[in-house]
Amino acid sequence: MNTPRIGAIGGGQLARMMAHAANAAGVDFRVLAEAEGSSARAAASMVGDYTQLNVVAGFAETVDVITFDHEHVPLTILEELERRGTRVQPAASALAFAQNKLQMRKRLAMLDLPMPAWAEIQSASELDEFIGEQGAVVLKTPIGGYDGKGVRVVRSSAEASDWLENIDKFGGSLLAEEKVDFVRELAQLSARNSSDEFAAWPLVETRQVNGVCSVVIAPAPYSSAKLLQQAQDVAKKIAEGLLVTGVLAVEMFEARDGRLLINELAMRPHNSGHFSIEGSVTSQFEQHLRAVANLPLGSTELVAEHAVMLNLLGVDDQHEFEPRFADVRASYPSVHLHDYGKSPRKGRKMGHITVVGSNAEALLAEANAAAAVLLRGI
Ligand code: ADP
Repeated sequence: MNTPRIGAIGGGQLARMMAHAANAAGVDFRVLAEAEGSSARAAASMVGDYTQLNVVAGFAETVDVITFDHEHVPLTILEELERRGTRVQPAASALAFAQNKLQMRKRLAMLDLPMPAWAEIQSASELDEFIGEQGAVVLKTPIGGYDGKGVRVVRSSAEASDWLENIDKFGGSLLAEEKVDFVRELAQLSARNSSDEFAAWPLVETRQVNGVCSVVIAPAPYSSAKLLQQAQDVAKKIAEGLLVTGVLAVEMFEARDGRLLINELAMRPHNSGHFSIEGSVTSQFEQHLRAVANLPLGSTELVAEHAVMLNLLGVDDQHEFEPRFADVRASYPSVHLHDYGKSPRKGRKMGHITVVGSNAEALLAEANAAAAVLLRGI
């Protein structure tokens, strides 16, 4: 079988890193980017609006398989492509659960998977009732949230009146969850192809600042064999139960009482898996391409005891990190520096740093020291 031509919708850094992997593997990879200056511009074969059926259908005609850099393509468009015979990976029926947190909770409950206590909220009285049971709760908009937007802690329905008054905008329901008392956040990255082959990387620890991923440590330090196995079992059950194809990231909480609870899902390469570019035999980007092309999956073994990834977030819309890259490279020759080629903006993911070695704490210190060089004098 010839390797199919793969098209990704979305021109962000994930598509950019998929393009690197595709180049290395000799895979014909194309991108439908949303704007001319997008991060994946070098691989963009089309620029257009992914919410327009004719644009997406036109792009789909140029490739054999469609996959994604983000989960915002309307399901109706993907379902129409599937009706017309396009291979969409992951399929619209799976992606639905990554697009809508409420649908995800309902589906995972049917699979009896471990989650925080949750409730579908359609009115102030339903929210107050759930708060009565739980104390403070985490309220979420089921669709459209990312990087902590669309998530807030509320102690009474009055604190959520703006969302409750506009509930139709969110599809008529909100999702309320137990506010988990967690000791840390974890992510289990895996991949599945349509021949039902499954492969998982070791569980990682993710650290968030203001709702945005800041650091990832692979594997998650101080994890028992039981915890590692439990996380992989959860991912396998989701991948198989929801018929996910491609990379699947399962974000989880390790609760203080020892429970391992699912937070949310992403069905594409994920920030928690960037470490795999240098830290694993097969990167998540190569694996995603293999999986959506239904090729055999690569080894997910780590190449060293640990890998640490640190996100480089923009400080403002003035300062580029690029002029200081040479200083980082000179001072920290074993640091892998990734630049997404984006124009700067406060809090924007501009790039990342990965260091691979034997001691997680030393690697984290090295990554932090290298990142500090980029911020010197700013
Ligand atoms: P997003 O889709 O924006 O990434 P998440 O659902 O992952 O939103 O939530 C963002 C952050 O909010 C999480 O990383 C976690 O720190 C916190 N959070 C989310 N849900 C809960 C919960 N049920 N209990 C405690 N903290 C939560």
